[in-house]
Amino acid sequence: MREHERISAKLAKFRPSLTLELKRLVGERRAKGLPVYDFGLGETRGELALHIREAGERAYREGHTMYGDPAGIPELRRSVLEWLGLEEQYEIDNVVITAGAKQSLFNIFLAVCNPADCVLFDCAPWVSYQPLAVAAYAFPVMVLPAAGDRNYLKVTPGDLERNLKMRPHAKLFLLNSPCNPTGQLYTAEELEGLLRVCVEHEIYFVLDRLYWRVVFDGASYPEPRVDDETRPWLIQVDGISKNFRRTGGLRIGWSVAPKDVSRAMANLQSHYTAGPAVPTQHSALAAVSHPYDEELCENLRRQRDLLHREVEGIQHVTVWPTPATFYSFWDVREAFGKRTPAGDVLRSSNDVMRYLVEKAGVVTASGQGFMQDGYLRLSFATPTEEIVGGMRAAKEAFAKLE
Ligand code: PMP
Repeated sequence: MREHERISAKLAKFRPSLTLELKRLVGERRAKGLPVYDFGLGETRGELALHIREAGERAYREGHTMYGDPAGIPELRRSVLEWLGLEEQYEIDNVVITAGAKQSLFNIFLAVCNPADCVLFDCAPWVSYQPLAVAAYAFPVMVLPAAGDRNYLKVTPGDLERNLKMRPHAKLFLLNSPCNPTGQLYTAEELEGLLRVCVEHEIYFVLDRLYWRVVFDGASYPEPRVDDETRPWLIQVDGISKNFRRTGGLRIGWSVAPKDVSRAMANLQSHYTAGPAVPTQHSALAAVSHPYDEELCENLRRQRDLLHREVEGIQHVTVWPTPATFYSFWDVREAFGKRTPAGDVLRSSNDVMRYLVEKAGVVTASGQGFMQDGYLRLSFATPTEEIVGGMRAAKEAFAKLE
């Protein structure tokens, strides 16, 4: 077999996930004793809540280690509906528990797309949307907003309509709100407009709401309308990775979808994972059925405010407002064409990202990972000292550009 045939043409082009790559970079610098201000990986820190840990421990002690229902343990599926306030609109057959939200997204592409069906994304798609779609033989397309970045890269119903006219094979529109990487939150009206377009065109509206509890300034999460008209076309994706502390590695997510779609996904899971690990489903059950602790959101709001204060006066950067998530989004296009002290000219987000790491130890995620050259994403789910030190170092590094 020839070298280039050993791996499928589809997977041979895959790059490892940018954010996981960043984690490796941080580890490497730390091991060498170099300064690191880590704004790279989007992960909450702190202690795992005791009730989440104990539920997992109890599951092991009590022997909940046999195969479970491939769609997830019924108690968790029921609790997920309560957690989302959807217990009136859906039944547990609408819910499929997965190994993280990632698997829910993959399930969706596999369940509803035929090869070459088009899947539409909002215009700064999270890093794994595209690889997941491609792995499912779907054809990903970004919906570019006519307004450019004037409304923080949000997609409007008009933008979606325009794309649907050109893409008769579009099967779904995937929206991430609150959005990783931009930190933007769609309003109820914006969401409803996009949902209406999807229903009219009979395509699925997939809402990735993984960060929905991390909304600031007294706002609450705008829920999509669920009724007889929207229910056949609405799919919601969520999980425990972001709205709790230290839960990303537990790998539990879920989808709430029409029954036929959920059935197809559960059938699929019965063949390839048989459902996520049962003890961690018990941990997830404890997480979502416990009264929600707003402490995480409050703490992240303080971190956001601190970052905004500390970053004031930075040159060549426009810092976007962050109404939700734990990501600060920076427009760094003004730094393009500038020269670093080492004489290199910055031409892309990757260049700026690399310059910040090498010059200042500031680790960020390049917008190029999110199809948005010109921007950087900074996770402020990071210790206070790192925010203060990191912003100082970043300001100095940008000030040295000529
Ligand atoms: N969607 C978005 C927008 C995300 O940011 C992430 C994780 N960073 C995922 C989905 C995947 O979540 P999980 O870790 O639960 O698989």
